[in-house]
Amino acid sequence: MTATHDFFADPELARPEVSVEQAQALVLAEYGVAADIVELGSQQERTFDVRSADARYVLKVAHPVFSDDEVTAQDAAMAHVAKRASGVAVPRTVPRLTEELVATVAGTLRARLLTFVPGFPLAEQDFLAPIVCEQLGALAGSVTAALADLDVPGLDRVLQWDVRNARRVCALLAPHLPDDKRRSALLAAVDNACDRLDDLAPDLRVQPVHADVTDDNVVCRRGADGRAVPTGVIDFGDVGLGWVVGDLAATCASVLHHDPDRPLAVVDTVRGYAARMPLTEPEVEAIWPAIVARAAVLVVSGVHQGVIDPGNDYAVSAQEREWQMLEAAMALPADVATAALRDALGRPVHAVSLDGVLPVLQGLRDVTVLDLSTTSDLLHDGAWLDPRTEQTLIEAASRPVATRYGEGRLTRTAVNSSTAPATVALAVELHLAEPASLHAPFAGQLQAVGDALVLVGADVDLWLTGVDSAAIGELTAGDVLGSAQDLTLQLCTARGHRPPAFVRPDEAAAWQVVCPDPSVLLGLDLSGVEVAAAAVLAHRGQALAGVQEHYYDAPPRIERGWRHHLIDINGRSYLDAVNNVASIGHAHPRLTRAVARQWDLLNTNSRFHYAAIADFSARLADLLPDPLDTVLLVNSGSEAVDLALRLAKTFTGRDNVLCIAEGYHGWTAASDAVSTSVADNPQALSTRPGWVHPLPAPNPYRGQHRGPDAGPRYIADALEQVQAVARPAAFLCEAFYGNAGGIPLPDGYLSAVYGAVRAAGGVCIADEVQVGYGRLGSSFWGFQQQGVVPDIVTVAKAMGNGHPLGAVIVRRDIADAFWDNGYFFSSAGGSPVSCTVGLTVLDVIEDEHLQHNASQVGAHLRKRFEELAETAPLIGAVHGLGLYLGVELVRDRQTLEPATEETAAICERLLQLGVVLQATGDRLNVLKIKPPLCLTVDSADFFVDAVAEVLQRGW
Ligand code: PMP
Repeated sequence: MTATHDFFADPELARPEVSVEQAQALVLAEYGVAADIVELGSQQERTFDVRSADARYVLKVAHPVFSDDEVTAQDAAMAHVAKRASGVAVPRTVPRLTEELVATVAGTLRARLLTFVPGFPLAEQDFLAPIVCEQLGALAGSVTAALADLDVPGLDRVLQWDVRNARRVCALLAPHLPDDKRRSALLAAVDNACDRLDDLAPDLRVQPVHADVTDDNVVCRRGADGRAVPTGVIDFGDVGLGWVVGDLAATCASVLHHDPDRPLAVVDTVRGYAARMPLTEPEVEAIWPAIVARAAVLVVSGVHQGVIDPGNDYAVSAQEREWQMLEAAMALPADVATAALRDALGRPVHAVSLDGVLPVLQGLRDVTVLDLSTTSDLLHDGAWLDPRTEQTLIEAASRPVATRYGEGRLTRTAVNSSTAPATVALAVELHLAEPASLHAPFAGQLQAVGDALVLVGADVDLWLTGVDSAAIGELTAGDVLGSAQDLTLQLCTARGHRPPAFVRPDEAAAWQVVCPDPSVLLGLDLSGVEVAAAAVLAHRGQALAGVQEHYYDAPPRIERGWRHHLIDINGRSYLDAVNNVASIGHAHPRLTRAVARQWDLLNTNSRFHYAAIADFSARLADLLPDPLDTVLLVNSGSEAVDLALRLAKTFTGRDNVLCIAEGYHGWTAASDAVSTSVADNPQALSTRPGWVHPLPAPNPYRGQHRGPDAGPRYIADALEQVQAVARPAAFLCEAFYGNAGGIPLPDGYLSAVYGAVRAAGGVCIADEVQVGYGRLGSSFWGFQQQGVVPDIVTVAKAMGNGHPLGAVIVRRDIADAFWDNGYFFSSAGGSPVSCTVGLTVLDVIEDEHLQHNASQVGAHLRKRFEELAETAPLIGAVHGLGLYLGVELVRDRQTLEPATEETAAICERLLQLGVVLQATGDRLNVLKIKPPLCLTVDSADFFVDAVAEVLQRGW
């Protein structure tokens, strides 16, 4: 039989009847393979997993309606892709003992034995990262490019999967859809999509295509970062002539159900595809309609297959997923999606011209343009969290009042939200002093749609709410269309959809193409579109040294903080899980008021005489046990550590300093010298000056000594090394091992080492820059955990809540010895403003019981992470205390192989879910958890839920 199949002649293709026993006998007789056989899922064929002692195969039995040519064309296509697309793994047809490729089974059914492509299907990966979507697209593009010149008989088929047939397939099969609403929505969407495709059809390329490079048929390996890496393609059963864009649509549609709320995830897939298989202009325009058509065909085919082959669990179980794909595709108008695709492909985006439109309102003057953006001065002190704020501001402003277009409204954000809320305004509001007549800005038909009016023009529609009108019908430009006092105006070129007034930031740019700025209708400039994060990053790179680090490759532009939340320029809020600098929370009103007042009064260098420096140093000294009673004020942790080392060296008249491996203490020459963390400086261990002597990291989880007797062994090692260092000036360490991920030092470690160092004539320095100031909850200082009192303490970060402020608190005799170097002076260290900051931060920590909060919320957070660890094998350990926690990620709990790449990828994914978190430790495999001390239980729960989602769904 050489004719090819015509789906419309024979649409009912239930799987052919072949038993496992028949398959087993065939494989043995025709291929000489003795194997265990299990049936696999398939829509219209029978497929079997064939495992022999030394190899694995797939046996495919085609439906009898398919001809010899159609079956052998599949073998040819596989061979062609194997030859042309070198990086893509595909199955190969195994010859029978007689050398032929096709066997017969159960009478006349055609069967082929194929090699097994190792890996797992992409469908198993729930969440698809942008890079995975792009790699999937690239793989699909490579396959299409490879098949372009395949020239064999059997390709000209009429398959239901061919997007060219979508309208007919849906018309034929949609009656099987039991849900009326779904059926009519599907048919409307398919009609709309196919109308667009019909217009483009003459210019769409047709060639041999796989037509089914979907998440089910793409085989992956695990990358080093734990993400799926698409490596191969199976199932060439739908090979035939088809649109290139239909082929791409099949791949894109399969991306949609992984994150149905974010249909534009397919943009990355298209970009990857186009890099391998460049797309023509009409193809770019056809992508979205083709995706809708493909998804609709999947839905109706899945339902139909369930009807004709009710035992086909594979087809039935896919039905809901297929509906999700279609819903996701229908959620976005094709014009919006196409604008996003064009932008991603670097093609010009066509905005409608508004030249010649007339003003809607005459004589608008003295308009108050309300700033509702992230940087608005109207929204300080958390005012944006009050749901009535917009209304309150409108009422308080002098009318007429207008809102901005394209602005990410801070008032629309939500804290603790794993999805970015719709914050970006596509409409503008106008609040007039009294009702006024509105005029049609262009000719069109005025219609009422729900609570809105729409003036349907030739190229663009004007959507209005709050307008009374008796002018429904045909209007010419300038005609009165109604009157209003409080109204919204929105332009839109997409027809058939009422455009949303607000959209999510990730879709905003595309929506703005379709809903252009209506400022021109009012003769005002209401554009609130901000400079994008990427442009600001490029600007930053022009003058600022690249070596001055920033978080993330593509960081959001954070322009506001509030308590433990950070908000970007689009109004997206993130939980700040990393910021121990903002100890009392961002933008604390008490702090900003106190600082503003002090600036109004005086700020000057610290050699002047004013009360704040006296008050603050006394307050600091009071926080420390005797004999730590003397304070020196500087501007940072690095300076504090540097000064502490100089104090120790001057006091002892010695040079050698002991520290602990994996520590970080600052960037100045001396504080850098004692910093041994290779995560901060890969050359750290090989470039220490001779006076620095690091002790091994006393890490009982993964260090040299582990288990219950690790502590005493670390202590013994440390004591031995202290003995080995001649004339030590000092021993410096974090009293609670912060930089390594919040690991407590072994019990008794500091008292033993301090004892030995002091016996050898050195002094002991506790670096409390990270872990001090109440963060640990159960004690204000880290050294209190070890029951010791250091000779010198360094503090910074938390004490200034982000203001540059550091201190050294020391024994008076050690401070006095510094006179040998002349006096000590740091211009802004201890300035009036800095001291006011320091005093206010301490007041807030006390009055708001933040140390207690750190203890309570920290314990809750730790318990939740410990519970999560029970079901998430990647979590090797939960370290830390209070609100200094470290969640250590490992590939194997026995070998403790660090999950470094996974940790980076997980942090990246958490940012999308609204959490700012970074890695720490020498292997960068510890989630560093040190949020502002005002973290709430609700936010702690949101945070752990986000981490749980990432660990469960993938990243
Ligand atoms: N000591 C420790 C323990 C630190 O973590 C840091 C900064 N990460 C410093 C000192 C240096 O502080 P700064 O960045 O304020 O100079």
